[in-house]
Amino acid sequence: MKAAVFKQIGGDLEIVEVPVPEPKQGWVRIKVHSCGVCHSDNACKYGNFGNSYPRIPGHEVFGEIEKLGEGVDPNYFKIGKLVGVGWFGGNHCGKCRECLNDQWIFCKESLICGIHYDGGYAEYMVAPSDSLAFVPEGMNAEETAPLLCAGITVFNSFRNQNIKVGSLVGVQGLGGLGHLAIQFCKKMGYEVIAMSSGDQKEKLAKELGAAHYVNISKDGWIDQMKAIGSVQCILLTAPSSSIVQSSLDALGVNGKLVLLALLPEPFNANSLTLIGGNKSIIGWSSGDSRDTEQTLNFANKNQVKAMVKTFPLENVNEALLKIADARFRHVVKIL
Ligand SMILES: [Zn+2]
Ligand SMILES: [Zn+2]
Repeated sequence: MKAAVFKQIGGDLEIVEVPVPEPKQGWVRIKVHSCGVCHSDNACKYGNFGNSYPRIPGHEVFGEIEKLGEGVDPNYFKIGKLVGVGWFGGNHCGKCRECLNDQWIFCKESLICGIHYDGGYAEYMVAPSDSLAFVPEGMNAEETAPLLCAGITVFNSFRNQNIKVGSLVGVQGLGGLGHLAIQFCKKMGYEVIAMSSGDQKEKLAKELGAAHYVNISKDGWIDQMKAIGSVQCILLTAPSSSIVQSSLDALGVNGKLVLLALLPEPFNANSLTLIGGNKSIIGWSSGDSRDTEQTLNFANKNQVKAMVKTFPLENVNEALLKIADARFRHVVKIL
């Protein structure tokens, strides 16, 4: 089969012919239809999580069940069923404190797809059965792939903040995560303020469902936010360290600031702003395969769609290198 592989740390992806992998006990073979390109693929390239090489990256995998390893229930994991695999790569133990607390993603046995084992930049891949999320029939392979990492990250982080439906929420950044966050928050019943630099993205933000648009590169934007109302949550999808304190200032009483992307450096926040307004700063990873399944079901029922540009597997390096100037999400089309 054809696959794109990092042969050594820091290298480019190389297209190679490799044997189709066999699913071991408890694992499933997936025929890959498409795979979304995520910034975190670079974690595989640079070995940030200690992966070995050669390694096939890709953790926004959309495909179909093709073969079952020993011990996988054929009545539940039916051959031909559409499935997705995200950052949570399965293999949770089910016995540790984190598992018993229903936090599979924090189990020490849990693996990361495309880091600890080969991911979706290939015609076939194998994954533990607990990493699989069933995809509702009829969902489009290219538009759905980004929901498996970017989508679940915004949907699952936000729904866990317990913000009252109808409240004002801000979405900072209008890239891969942000354009999905606006749609999800709107469809979940919130009044969304899109927060981005410049005025050129206002039209698009409103088409995606934002009720308001605030240009955060202009002086006075914090007052503009406050004038709209009491903002109960801001999702930072493309943060810089300076946006943290100003977003805290823009939040209303009890407001929550949720970090969804890594900041390039440590940030400063004024404790008086936090204590004086019962405000909090929250970090959130993504979620597990059950959260992914709920993300997909919600997106399917509510027509939340990723805006994508597709690439053939041969052009995967271009898709990954140009991710910084991607208008939303790049997706590698494999089938
Ligand atoms: Zn990702
Ligand atoms: Zn565990």
